[in-house]
Amino acid sequence: MQRLRALSFLSILAVYAAAPSAAPQPQRTLAPSTDGKLNVIAFGAHPDDCDQRAGGVAAKLAALGHRVRFVSVTNGDAGHQTEGGGALAARRRAEAREAGRRIGVEYITLDNHDGELLPTLKPREDIIRQIRQWNADLVLAPRPNDYHPDHRYTGVLVQDAAYMVVVPNVTPDTPALRKNPVFMYFEDRFLRPNTFRPDIAISIDDVIDKKIDMMDAHVSQFYEWLPWVDGMLEKVPSGAAERKRWLKETRAGQPTPAVRETLVKWYGAKQGNAVRYAEAFEICEYGTRPDDALIRKLFPFLPGPSKD
Ligand SMILES: [Zn+2]
Repeated sequence: MQRLRALSFLSILAVYAAAPSAAPQPQRTLAPSTDGKLNVIAFGAHPDDCDQRAGGVAAKLAALGHRVRFVSVTNGDAGHQTEGGGALAARRRAEAREAGRRIGVEYITLDNHDGELLPTLKPREDIIRQIRQWNADLVLAPRPNDYHPDHRYTGVLVQDAAYMVVVPNVTPDTPALRKNPVFMYFEDRFLRPNTFRPDIAISIDDVIDKKIDMMDAHVSQFYEWLPWVDGMLEKVPSGAAERKRWLKETRAGQPTPAVRETLVKWYGAKQGNAVRYAEAFEICEYGTRPDDALIRKLFPFLPGPSKD
């Protein structure tokens, strides 16, 4: 086992050494599974996607000592009105790293071009490697129906990696997992071909300011690019504290009626109805299908089953 670990570590180093990007890679490549802590990995298409959909849950898990890695599948090099290319990718990689640092999660940016992601073998293999190296118990990703092609294909790529992560002959340079992780989708508001089904909803009231602090690290996005897309650039306050307050007012979001129902299911009527900020997830059928006991293990801050 130790030998296998050592070998796989070397092979990972070799993969990183061969990578075209000169950006420094994190040292921690194999998360242990023997200390009772969870290994959670989330994939977003762009550096800031995971933050919005799972930043609160990630902050809660990290605070309990669990390991969370966020992976941006593209480098975000198209997401700005006046900047682009390698300089923007470098800026966004640094923003993502800082965002992760603020809540205690590791943030990786893969080097696929923004706006050009396709569900092909190479990015699928990279995602399989990421899930295996992280020894993931839980994998989070967007659903494959979404307005943005990069989001859609990130959803497809992660779905395509489910199950394949346990097949040793697939991507054999990285040792296969012995168990298919649980896969879940982030919440979205798209209706076709089917609406998001909130199987799990988590109160993030206790970490909402941490989540906003994380999002605040993506200056190029929340204070420049996204307001410009929305025609609201002149509404962005100039002071650091003012704009963070504005970020919370405009982006913290409210639970939908369906998410509220799920909050009540998991927290009981009193507590569930009092939640102000939540993150919700839908179970993907291609991973291990969790029962309620496993869901409580993966989200250890959920109350016990006999509430209310
Ligand atoms: Zn995005």
